[in-house]
Amino acid sequence: MVLTQELTDIHQCLKQYFGFDSFRGKQEEIVKTVMNGQDAFVIMPTGAGKSLCYQLPAIMMDGTALVISPLIALMKNQVDQMHSLGIEAGYLNSSMTKGDYEAVKMKAIDRILKMLYVAPETLVRDEFMDFIRSIQLTFVAVDEAHCISEWGHDFRPEYRRIRPILSQLNRDVPIIALTATATPKVQLDIQKNLQIEQSPIFKTSFNRHNLYYEIRPKVNPIPEIVKYIKQNDKKSGIVYCLSRRKVEEIAEILNMNGIKAVPYHAGLDSETRSNHQDMFLHEDVQVVVATIAFGMGIDKPDVRFVIHYDVPKSIESYYQETGRAGRDGLEGNCILFYQFNDIVKLEKFMKDKPLSEREASKHLLYEMAAFCESGVCRRKQLLHYFGESYDERQCNKMCDNCRYPKELFDATEETHAALKCVHELEGKFGFNYVIGVLRGSNNQQIKEMGHTDLSTFGIGKDIEERHWKSILIQLVVNDYLIKDINDYGFLHLSPKAEAFLQNPYKVNLVTFQDFSQLEKEHAIPVEEVKVYDPVLYERLIVLRKEIAKQHSLPPYVIFQETSLEEIATKYPLSIQEFENITGVGAGKAKKFAKPFIELIKKYVDEFEIERPEQYVVKTQGKNSADKLYIIQQIDRKVPLDEIAKYKEMTFQEVIEKVEQIIFSGMKLNLEYYIRQVVDEDKLEDIYDYFMSAKSDCLADASKELGSGYSPEEIQLVRAMFYSEKAL
Ligand SMILES: [Zn+2]
Repeated sequence: MVLTQELTDIHQCLKQYFGFDSFRGKQEEIVKTVMNGQDAFVIMPTGAGKSLCYQLPAIMMDGTALVISPLIALMKNQVDQMHSLGIEAGYLNSSMTKGDYEAVKMKAIDRILKMLYVAPETLVRDEFMDFIRSIQLTFVAVDEAHCISEWGHDFRPEYRRIRPILSQLNRDVPIIALTATATPKVQLDIQKNLQIEQSPIFKTSFNRHNLYYEIRPKVNPIPEIVKYIKQNDKKSGIVYCLSRRKVEEIAEILNMNGIKAVPYHAGLDSETRSNHQDMFLHEDVQVVVATIAFGMGIDKPDVRFVIHYDVPKSIESYYQETGRAGRDGLEGNCILFYQFNDIVKLEKFMKDKPLSEREASKHLLYEMAAFCESGVCRRKQLLHYFGESYDERQCNKMCDNCRYPKELFDATEETHAALKCVHELEGKFGFNYVIGVLRGSNNQQIKEMGHTDLSTFGIGKDIEERHWKSILIQLVVNDYLIKDINDYGFLHLSPKAEAFLQNPYKVNLVTFQDFSQLEKEHAIPVEEVKVYDPVLYERLIVLRKEIAKQHSLPPYVIFQETSLEEIATKYPLSIQEFENITGVGAGKAKKFAKPFIELIKKYVDEFEIERPEQYVVKTQGKNSADKLYIIQQIDRKVPLDEIAKYKEMTFQEVIEKVEQIIFSGMKLNLEYYIRQVVDEDKLEDIYDYFMSAKSDCLADASKELGSGYSPEEIQLVRAMFYSEKAL
């Protein structure tokens, strides 16, 4: 290793350690500013080379730079990366042994360590401050500085104390704050908090020209996701979900469908999490399914797709998470599955939060919904959110709305009405209020404020509220209206709007698209699913009869008709594919599928059938945790009614779950319970009935057996019968 002191030229250092011939964007200016001992505020999107802005000066300067970082995983990742470049870096955190902790400190005292990563919580400790006073501190870098704004207010108050603590050092230490995401509001908050309002700001455009943004209606997303990933075999990707349960479920479904995937969420222990992270980084798995906890600072340049199974909680989160795709500047596809219902669900989750927080979160959520439902260039909207104006003609069809343009309408009148209304309200009200006035709402506040007298009151009563919302959003995105960056989001006029009001001209806006309608259109009609091969179906029926005879069982016990229809649609050719057929499951497939597979093989050859280019998606079914619990309890011979009580389910729900478990191929021994609750004679009668019946229909059974047999009894015995005969 070359002694760093010998490096005098930043270009030489750039080449030697990072392997680049030249700096990108504003990196060089930033590096020079930091090396001159000045504060700096760096706003750069993910993937633009943000870390290098402090890493390079740290390498070149004599002493140790303190890097404040929010997460242990992030510190570890950065330190590993530095080590791989041959640079001495370390971190101090609570997960370390005392020996390791002291060793890192010694390296700093000996001026060997170039960078020391800590969380803000470490910074506030007296012991740590004493140590910092004893080392040659070059500068302080606050990485992911938006945490000051985002987290500092509630659960990580130390984030807001960085400046006061540093001032206790009694010497001037330059601060470089870095963030990959900052709306104008967050930006101001960071500057004020770190007292760097007077320092230069280095802002890089947030445009990620290589990312393709697409919003799809969330109708039946799992098969779409499986299909997409299979089509993008060998490409790395991330699937984001909001709940841990969903993460586990989707990871499992992907694996069931032959896609190597691991879950990642805060409920996993740290060892498992870091294992899964490494597996993804080293490409032992193709996909990581994660809650938002994953990815902060994880620098995998070749993530080719980011799929949002759930709608993110804000546009900012969406930008941040999609930003993990295509960091190398190559392909990056971002697909979000959206339905308005998810917004409603998220809103419900917030109901226990304090009012102010709830209002703020709700506001962010509705911005996200508006973004999804809008027909305006996605890139334009995103950049607008970060305070950049953007000409959508530059998008180059790299978003769904530019690739498949939505219809425009002449909105001159509406624009005029909306702008005039905002003018009359003197810029002191937000979206909903403006819409209320335009639509002539009965709202008490509007009455009390005397706004029923305005010339625009009720002028747009024929236009639906959500249409108005879409119009207003477009007026904001197109720089007619300016939305305040404070919490209230008041609307006021831009110079462009003032000019328009004086001298109106034709304005075209994108027609409101009804996403709930789109969701319906995208749903697959029921008839479509039922198209099966009638010739094969007949042959399957014949074979089923033979097999049933051999086993002395009624045919429906082998495979039900609905299963046969699906078989005659999908032509399964292996046991595994059979397991994917509804109502079959592993047990039945193993026991009965073989002769069917032979038949289908012969049939496919005979008629030269090309099997549909389909992706057989195996789903795990809902509430697998409940099912697991039921299986365990039945194994321990716990009465079903007690299981129901404990799980707060109805008895009927438990029976249905039991049936689902059995139909999916798992044998359950129910005798212990049935013998307690069903009379011996009745049990035999019901059992005999199913042995000779044509179908397993409960209503038929009830009719045939008569009123002395309760539906529960029949259903329970049927489940037992299935478990004993079909598995
Ligand atoms: Zn676009």
